[in-house]
Amino acid sequence: MELPLLVFDPPKRGKPPRHLSDMTAQERKEALAELGIPAFRADQVSRHWFARLSDDPSHWTDLSAHDRDAIASALLPELLKPVKRVTCDEGTTVKNVWQLHDNALVESVLMRYPDRVTMCVSSQAGCGMNCPFCATGQAGLTRNLSTAEIVEQVMDGARQLAQGKVAGGPGRVGNVVFMGMGEPLANYTPLIRAIRTLIAPAPAGLGLSGRGITVSTVGLVPRMRDLAGEGMPITLAVSLHAPDDELRNELVPVNTRWPIDEVLDAAWEYTERTKRRVSIEYALIRDINDQEERAELLSRLLIGRLVHVNLIPLNPTPGSKWTASRPESQRAFVNRLRVNGVPVTVRDTRGSEIDGACGQLAAAT
Ligand code: SAH
Repeated sequence: MELPLLVFDPPKRGKPPRHLSDMTAQERKEALAELGIPAFRADQVSRHWFARLSDDPSHWTDLSAHDRDAIASALLPELLKPVKRVTCDEGTTVKNVWQLHDNALVESVLMRYPDRVTMCVSSQAGCGMNCPFCATGQAGLTRNLSTAEIVEQVMDGARQLAQGKVAGGPGRVGNVVFMGMGEPLANYTPLIRAIRTLIAPAPAGLGLSGRGITVSTVGLVPRMRDLAGEGMPITLAVSLHAPDDELRNELVPVNTRWPIDEVLDAAWEYTERTKRRVSIEYALIRDINDQEERAELLSRLLIGRLVHVNLIPLNPTPGSKWTASRPESQRAFVNRLRVNGVPVTVRDTRGSEIDGACGQLAAAT
């Protein structure tokens, strides 16, 4: 009898090991000093890592072999072990499943469009928000990701692109959306540190534009207000999914703690303080939240605000009783918002044929 292969190891405890990408420029100097390496070398190291996207210290020949070895073993542990890479859309969508040091699994997705590359990254292993239509929500929260575990998902994409390994030739990451696994605002400090590293100009960080970064939240009101005060020009996306508390209590259970009017007040404070348009995400679920009356109610909440509605056709999770809206309901929903003067687009659902959409690949691993 053949025994089933045990592919993944059981969970382990402990924090992820410290990594270069956890640190600010100043902390990198201090970390090198601890290794007996002059602080001024930190700029060279950061330049290799973030500007040249070189993850092989043996190529960093402006440092001594001794220093390179010391840095590699103390500051460059393998945080994300690739366990699966799946492509579709002629190689322009690349979905990754990573195994973390404690054997937790997370996903990231690279999506290449004619004019830009967007990376969808995870902020937590699992998620504690328990939204019933979301694959990640079903398994609960395993743990928060560290700053470097977040940053390195983007760095991997940046390196793959720089090395011409993604269909379409060499390229760069333009946008990062925190729409992978997890509730980013429930892992606030590592999230903010990661974003600061992504937007810090090289060599301190990857030098992305803040405008290309979107943080998506279920609506953790106090944290939304904190985010508005960070002084970062990033986009806030709010997963609304229903215009009435009764339905939203079911679809986004944290609504029982922070109801719609409080979430939207915090969103308007965000637009006030940052002058940035807020995205409202709304997964269209057949006969659940896709009625025209709900499009009307949604319009009333949003008319006149600095806002854009992103409708997401539901990507049904395995065994779910819910499915995507009928095309005619989707059309009517869109039209009602348009007629009411609310800007709206329907999100494309890249990667759905490879379980790429919404936390399903790790769940299927
Ligand atoms: N926790 C954050 C970010 C993660 S999910 C949040 O909830 O905003 C990113 C978006 O995908 C959210 O709007 C989420 O509600 C949506 N989503 C999750 N599962 C989905 C599914 N099966 N089909 C369509 N959208 C889904």
